[in-house]
Amino acid sequence: MPLRQSIRLGSYLMKQKLRRREKFPILLELEPLYACNLKCAGCGKIQQTHDWLKQRMPVEQAVAAVEECGAPMVSIAGGEPLMHKEIDEIVRQLLARNKIVFLCTNAVLLPKHLHKFTPHRNFAWMVHIDGLRDRHDQSVCKDGVFDQAVDAIKQAQAAGFRVMTNTTFFDTDSPQDVIDVLDYLNDDLHVDNMQISPGFAYEKAPDQEHWLGPDETRQLFRKAFGDGRRKRWRLNHSPLFLDFLEGKVDFDCTAWAIPLYSLKGWQRPCYLMDDGYVETYQQLLDETDWSKYGRGRDPRCANCMAHCGYEPTAVVATLGSLRESIRAAIS
Ligand code: SF4
Ligand code: SF4
Repeated sequence: MPLRQSIRLGSYLMKQKLRRREKFPILLELEPLYACNLKCAGCGKIQQTHDWLKQRMPVEQAVAAVEECGAPMVSIAGGEPLMHKEIDEIVRQLLARNKIVFLCTNAVLLPKHLHKFTPHRNFAWMVHIDGLRDRHDQSVCKDGVFDQAVDAIKQAQAAGFRVMTNTTFFDTDSPQDVIDVLDYLNDDLHVDNMQISPGFAYEKAPDQEHWLGPDETRQLFRKAFGDGRRKRWRLNHSPLFLDFLEGKVDFDCTAWAIPLYSLKGWQRPCYLMDDGYVETYQQLLDETDWSKYGRGRDPRCANCMAHCGYEPTAVVATLGSLRESIRAAIS
């Protein structure tokens, strides 16, 4: 994160601590549509009925949800957000409210819509790249998408935008695959930051065979991060979360800190699992039995090491330790 954003996030977290709030939002996942122009095998988001796929969230509704929640950061996903005709207006309105905004995209439509956006210190594109050419095209089930995404990233960089990437790994990935894609994004494409995640076993995803279990996840990242490589990459994660991926520490899930607001409302309990919806973030906090969720509590959470459940825990643990705060600041 740029220093200014880190300071802002740190002061927001400090305020929550001083107010003794036990549960609070850090990043809101906003899904203003379910439709997508791709059909990735590991996607658990696009299996909606035709009626839902046609719908788009009005700008006012999206902004009201962000304001009610109060999270300092908003990640806009979907579906493919660039298929929403007013997505640029949603971004503008959130930036005007001093939110840090990430616009997640598979980048196929990015060149066509780039002119609608203006570079801003609190705005970044977050491009989905699951591996190098063959691996990524296999993951998104369409040839040519990797080259399109790389070309779109270069266009966005040339136009002065911050560009980040988001990479999901499955059991078909070796440590060398992780190294190769992160080296490429870091050293060849020079993206600003990279985000990584082990794939989550979505019940509705077409591919039900290639999820990583926790032990496989730990082995994969321990080997990939070895020889000091982890420090060389501009990963958009706290050191403690990366320790968690390597199996050096373990955490409880704090999914309330990265909630999901979609066309259906606030999804309970988290971005990944769908146990119903409520109308407000406050209801989500108050009416969810959080003690039921997390690895070891709900069998559906058994293989989850996703950042939406565990990065907030790592961030709060970082804030609670001088040693970890210094480590995060200099990493
Ligand atoms: S690009 Fe994203 S939303 Fe679209 S199908 Fe792939 S994973 Fe799902
Ligand atoms: S462990 Fe937490 S983030 Fe992961 S699926 Fe379960 S409730 Fe969601």
